[in-house]
Amino acid sequence: MATVAINLATGTFQQEEIIVGIDLGTTNSLVAYVHPDSRQPVAINDQGRGSIVPSVVHFPADGIDPVVGNEAREFLLTDPQRTIYSMKRLLGKSYRDLGLHATQLGYKVIDDNSEGLVKIRVDDRFFSPIELSADILKELRARAEHALKTPVNRAVITVPAYFNDSQRQATRDAGRLAGLEVLRIVNEPTAAALAYGIGLDPSEEKTVAVYDLGGGTFDISILRIQQGIFEVLSTNGDTYLGGDDFDRVVTEHWSTIFQLPASFQTNPHLQQQLRLAAEMAKKYLSQHDDFTTQLTDEAGQNTTVTLTRAQFNDLIRPLVDRTIAACRQAVQDAKLEGFEGKRRQGQEDNEKVGSHTPSPPSLLPSSRLDAVLLVGGSTRVPLVYDAVSEFFGQPANNSLNPDEVVALGAAIQADILAGNRRDVLLLDVTPLTLGIETLGGLLDPIIPRNSKIPTKAGRQYTTSVDGQVNLKIAVYQGERDLVSQNRKLGEFVLTGIPAMPAGLPKVDVNFLLNADGILQVEAIELRSNTRQQVEIKPQYGLTDEQVEQMLMDSLMNAKEDVAARLLIEARTAAEQLLYQVSNFTRKNREHLTENELTATEAQVEALRTALTGTERDPILKAMDELEELTRPYAERVMNISIQQAMAGKKIE
Ligand code: ADP
Ligand code: MG
Repeated sequence: MATVAINLATGTFQQEEIIVGIDLGTTNSLVAYVHPDSRQPVAINDQGRGSIVPSVVHFPADGIDPVVGNEAREFLLTDPQRTIYSMKRLLGKSYRDLGLHATQLGYKVIDDNSEGLVKIRVDDRFFSPIELSADILKELRARAEHALKTPVNRAVITVPAYFNDSQRQATRDAGRLAGLEVLRIVNEPTAAALAYGIGLDPSEEKTVAVYDLGGGTFDISILRIQQGIFEVLSTNGDTYLGGDDFDRVVTEHWSTIFQLPASFQTNPHLQQQLRLAAEMAKKYLSQHDDFTTQLTDEAGQNTTVTLTRAQFNDLIRPLVDRTIAACRQAVQDAKLEGFEGKRRQGQEDNEKVGSHTPSPPSLLPSSRLDAVLLVGGSTRVPLVYDAVSEFFGQPANNSLNPDEVVALGAAIQADILAGNRRDVLLLDVTPLTLGIETLGGLLDPIIPRNSKIPTKAGRQYTTSVDGQVNLKIAVYQGERDLVSQNRKLGEFVLTGIPAMPAGLPKVDVNFLLNADGILQVEAIELRSNTRQQVEIKPQYGLTDEQVEQMLMDSLMNAKEDVAARLLIEARTAAEQLLYQVSNFTRKNREHLTENELTATEAQVEALRTALTGTERDPILKAMDELEELTRPYAERVMNISIQQAMAGKKIE
């Protein structure tokens, strides 16, 4: 094996190798890097296809390999069940988290009635949002390798500022599955600020608003940057508002005004034609005042449709107004006190020089913000630019390409982590992931490697067996999925949990890593307030070479590890389902028909058989079928406690 040097300050390998920055978007994704000669960030445009890769994966009916990007997008309407989009919305989420939205997608999201992570079914194959996101990342990686003519193994990936631990971890896993070592997960607004050069000078102190309007989501973030640290003061937005809605109001307008035949709502090819024409009109009107095109129906009849910029503005104004309302809330939540202070200071100065000029009426937050940055393709719409500039009382900054700005910032962060910018302050980070053991011997990461220290993080767990009164908390360090391949730091037992049905106790496990690298682990059962705590020295006894070896191992084994984890998760979920179904049929025998009982027994057997194998898909398929079969009875019997017992992540 080749030897590599490891930079303990950053937890990264020191090699002359390009680290890319990736914007893994809901609608579009991009990869960028810092050019070694010009030192400028550049979005990678492989083979003149443009830098944007639509975040869409299509599984052809007769093929194994997925099609990704523009080519996959073609199938959105014609083969929706095999064409997965918006997987970012599903990352790190359970079916319950998704609620109604799960049924609004064109493809099948499995309802396993649990808090486990969602899966997507395409024919008889099952995919997690992590695998689907990995498909996008693989495509980006391949494009980067092709364009740069060098292997690409390391990346910085961006996520929305509001992403929780589980969503961030899922993003990391997707990167790993795509063969990328994810050096850091960076907030999208932070990346945008970096792209604008904000935060690169540790001595400057800035507060900025980042307005990000993409295809299907809107985010506003207020950031405070001091000493190279980016703090999110507030975030707001709407996860179901974006450029797609602009397209939709245009298609609705045309359908009414030009009395388009009903087939434009029902025939997938005509729907596609209409939607694409609306998007084209929207983009065209970002530059021009009038748009005209022809739509052709199935009989070959042409209809001319037109749209002026003024009409378009009227159509989208209510949507833009909603984004401004979210901005107002974000500004309020950010409580920009520091700036209040500055204003008072200003008044005193005025008094000193004997001026009677009143201080400016700071009703708008403008004076408290150093910059307003525009991010996302939809900010190219002139009305959006005007509305944002007006609200913030200063011209919004859109000098960088709004499609690329997040990826460019990620590339700059990658360049910093590569040690190429000595001028930029680097904070101390944890070299290895810290986590605890969960059911099936899996490592559940709590503090990911490369986290800045000091840091604290926590997650909630529950019990897996009825009446369980003790819970073992075993703490591990390392990058592998199975605890057996990581380094055990210690364990303790939380005792005195009141006996309750499995899934009901709520145990918070909190990790606090202080600036000296000492880890304090605390477990609290929330219903009874039972608590226990230990202190651990994670670094103790580990040499740099060992840390390096552990990182290398995790990279070499990434594929197998992720596969093993997915199989164990499927098995654990299947065993829990069997347990619940058997409980359910035992308790509700009298409410079930003979047929229902026999059918259930047969499907339970099928799942047991699948469990004897080592393949994940047959297990998931048998589970899905068992759930589909039992759901109607469960709903009939409405045994709520069973459903509660089904929920939750379990520790042994
Ligand atoms: P995301 O971050 O959600 O993946 P993007 O930032 O790539 O999304 O934004 C995609 C959206 O931007 C799409 O709705 C697209 O139609 C819109 N868009 C791209 N270019 C323009 C333009 N010139 N004018 C208006 N909207 C545009
Ligand atoms: Mg985006």
